[in-house]
Amino acid sequence: MPELPEVETVKAGIAPVMEGSVIARAEVNRPDLRWPFPERMAERLTGQRVLGLRRRSKYILVDLASAETLLIHLGMSGRMLVSGQMIGEFHHPHPAPAKHDHVVFHMENGARITFNDARRFGAMDLMETARQEDHWLIRDLGPEPLGNAFNETYLIDRLKGRNTPIKSALLDQRIVSGLGNIYVCEVLFRAGIHPARKAGRISAARVASLVPLIRDVLSEAIAAGGSSLRDYRQSDGELGYFQHVFQVYDRADKPCVTHGCGKTITRIVQSGRSSFFCPQCQR
Ligand SMILES: [Zn+2]
Repeated sequence: MPELPEVETVKAGIAPVMEGSVIARAEVNRPDLRWPFPERMAERLTGQRVLGLRRRSKYILVDLASAETLLIHLGMSGRMLVSGQMIGEFHHPHPAPAKHDHVVFHMENGARITFNDARRFGAMDLMETARQEDHWLIRDLGPEPLGNAFNETYLIDRLKGRNTPIKSALLDQRIVSGLGNIYVCEVLFRAGIHPARKAGRISAARVASLVPLIRDVLSEAIAAGGSSLRDYRQSDGELGYFQHVFQVYDRADKPCVTHGCGKTITRIVQSGRSSFFCPQCQR
């Protein structure tokens, strides 16, 4: 499932072919994904110049000249493929239409961006750009983990007195938006905090230590995604799924990477999601 760094990578991959260009034709091949598409979506997109791309949490926001913004959510299995010829950039021949190609943006510059989603947990919606903060998927989101509003004081304040496990608190999108299961596991390992520890029972100093670790883990993954972008132009044009080395995530029964630790990584299930941690290094 794509998390914030993957979404950032997809955004960085489609931005060069979308920004400043006009959507010559938006091809919408079904009425819905996870939810129905907005009314007349194809018409509202066709002919619009793309002013810029942004990311909020795990959503890609495409600002249009019509003062509307297209929200794209990749869901569980959503994929973006870029094809076509751009001078000096890359050249992937347009692929034959495939099953699950639900939305295709035919750009005036000759590029094509295909949204393919086998499981259809993805979503697209249109909103007034000026009122994007009121959108139901956005209005309750906490601050961005890489933004200034997310800092030590804020996190200490938000976790104070909380009885929930720290793992669940960091996954709570109202506290910090865009953090998912994989990167929370990695952050807690680096912080040496057990995922089941009650959030309100962790010292302020240890809570504060989470903030730079969250930024580091996400920034490193975004950097890895950026490297994968330089490679994808030689591969098949698919964006956002890159190999990344994890220290605990999906490493159950493998040795802990801490020098001299000697224990193996444990997997437990919390709120229906797998947590991976070292029982020796994380307390
Ligand atoms: Zn260990």
